[in-house]
Amino acid sequence: MPNSGLDARELAQQTRLLEMLRSVAFASNDSVSFLDVLGYALNQIAEFQQWPLGHIWLRSPDGVEELTPSDIWYCKDRQRFEPFMAATRDRTFTAGMGLPGRVLARKRPTWVGDVRTDPSFLRSNEAAACGIRGAFSFPVLAGPRVAAVLDLYADEPVELDAQLLTAVEQMGALLGRVAEREQAAAERRLTQSALEDRVLERTAELEKVNRSLQNEVEQRRQAEKVKDELVATVSHELRTPLASIRGFTELLLTREFAEERRREMLEVILKEAFQLTDLIEDLLDIQKVAVGKLAYHCEDFDLSTLVRDAVRNAQARTREHRIAAGKLAELGAVYGDPNRIRQVLNNLLSNAIRYSPGGGDIEVSMRQVGELAEISVSDHGLGIPSDAIGKLFTKFYRVDNSATRSINGTGLGLALIKSIVEDHGGEVGVESVEGQGSRFWFRLPLIPVGDPATV
Ligand code: ADP
Repeated sequence: MPNSGLDARELAQQTRLLEMLRSVAFASNDSVSFLDVLGYALNQIAEFQQWPLGHIWLRSPDGVEELTPSDIWYCKDRQRFEPFMAATRDRTFTAGMGLPGRVLARKRPTWVGDVRTDPSFLRSNEAAACGIRGAFSFPVLAGPRVAAVLDLYADEPVELDAQLLTAVEQMGALLGRVAEREQAAAERRLTQSALEDRVLERTAELEKVNRSLQNEVEQRRQAEKVKDELVATVSHELRTPLASIRGFTELLLTREFAEERRREMLEVILKEAFQLTDLIEDLLDIQKVAVGKLAYHCEDFDLSTLVRDAVRNAQARTREHRIAAGKLAELGAVYGDPNRIRQVLNNLLSNAIRYSPGGGDIEVSMRQVGELAEISVSDHGLGIPSDAIGKLFTKFYRVDNSATRSINGTGLGLALIKSIVEDHGGEVGVESVEGQGSRFWFRLPLIPVGDPATV
C-alpha cells in the first residue's frame, strides 16, 4: 500500500470529520447567536460519534472562574438519562473540579475512557446508573478566555481518539470567535445606548435650562410691565387728588366764601387727602404682598365691634350715602390681625361709596356660612359687567367704561383684600348686576367654640 498510512476507513472518517468542521464553520459565520451555534456544534459531534448524550456548560457571566449548566442538551433518550441530567442541572464546576472543571483549568480537550474508573469524574454514580461509560469534553476559547465547555458522553468505554480531539480543539476556537463577535456587538450596543442615554440626558438638561431661562425672561417682562403700569397709574392717581387739594386750598387762601361753600371745599380737600392716604397705603402693602412681607399681628377679636366701627367711620366720609350695619349675627371671635381685617372692610366700603356716584344705601351685614363668618358690603351703585367679575381681584385691573372712567383708582384694593383674607385662611367673592349694584363679601374661619385659638 503506498505510504499515506491511512486505510480507507480512516480516510472516510477523516473526511467526515472535516465535513463536520466545515459545517460548524459555516454555521458560525451565519450564526444568529452564540448559543444557537453551540447547540448546532453539539448536535453535529454527537451525531458524528453516534454518542447518545451531550451538554453545554457556560462560563459564569460575572467573570468568576466557574461553569454553570446551560441545560442545552443533545439527548437520545430523556427518560434513560434523566438521573444524570438532574445531577447536572443543579451543579456548578469551578476550575479543576470534575471533567468540565478540568477543561476550564487546562483550556484543552480532556478524554475519559471510562467514568467508572476515573476518580475525578464527579457524577459517576448517576452516570453509571444511566449506563454512561466514556466521555470527552472540550473548551470554547474566546481569546484566552473559556466561554463554554461542551461535554459528550458514550454508553460504552472509549479509546482516546486523538484525531477527534484535534478537530474539536479547532472547533472550540471557531466557536470562540462567535462568542467574541457577540461580546463585541453587545459592548457596541452598550456604548451606543450609553451614548444615546447621555445625549438624551443632556438634551433634557438643556431643555430645562432653556425653560427656566424663558421663565425668567417672562417674569422679568411681567415685572417690567407691572412697573410701567404702576408708574403710569400712580403718577395719575397722585396728581388728580393733589391738583384738587391745591386748587381748593389756593381758593380758600385767596378768596372769601360763605360758610357753607367753605365747608364743602374743605370736605373735598379732606376726601382727596383720605384718597391719597389710601392710595399710598395700598401701594406700600401691595409691594409687601409681592415680596411676601405683609406683617400680621394676630389675636382673637370680635367681628361685630369691628364692623360697627368701620360703618361709623365710612359714614363720616360721605353725605350722599346712607351706610348701615344690617343684620349682624353674633358669631363669636375670629383669630387674625384686626387692623388688616379693618383695612379689608374699609376698602370694600370705600369702593361701595366711590362706585355708587349717585349716592344711595350701603349695607354691611354678617352671617355664618359653615364654619366661616361672612361679612358683606352691598351697594346700589354702578354694578359690574359680568365679563369683568373674574378679573376684579387681579392687580391693576379696573373696569373701564363710561360710568367708571371718571372715578379714580389704581386697581390694587381688591387684589390686596384677596391676599389678606386668604392669608387668614378665608375667601373672597362678589355678586353683581351691572346698573343695579354689587355685593362684595369675605369669609374668615371662626374659632370653634371651646377651642383655644390655634393659627
Ligand atoms: P380701584 O377701585 O382702585 O380701581 P379695586 O381693586 O378696589 O381698585 O377695584 C377694582 C375694580 O373693581 C374697580 O376699578 C371697579 O371697576 C370695580 N369695583 C370695585 N368695587 C366695586 C363696586 N362696589 N361697585 C362697582 N365696581 C366695583
